[in-house]
Amino acid sequence: MNDESDSARKARKFVMSYVRKGPYVLYPDPAIVANVLEGLGDRLERYGKMYCPCAAIDEARERGQELVCPCVPHHADIERQGYCDCALFASKDFVGTQA
Ligand code: SF4
Repeated sequence: MNDESDSARKARKFVMSYVRKGPYVLYPDPAIVANVLEGLGDRLERYGKMYCPCAAIDEARERGQELVCPCVPHHADIERQGYCDCALFASKDFVGTQA
């Protein structure tokens, strides 16, 4: 974790506090999670907000708060497929099926 950027660290801090509150947990693949955190950190550094890293930046900025992590659609996405579109947050049920 030493080579994690400052902004990725900020993103990780935010994400861990969000997960602590529940009801979601982290996606069960640490390499994917680390990648998304780098993406969130990069967007925070470049654009001042944690715009969703799996959306095109122009669209994300146009839609404003809706696509700032945790984005508005993530509840419905987790309900439908078990994890958010970036594969950062997942439901406990989804993680249970991956064990
Ligand atoms: S898809 Fe996941 S990582 Fe991307 S903004 Fe939404 S909640 Fe955050």
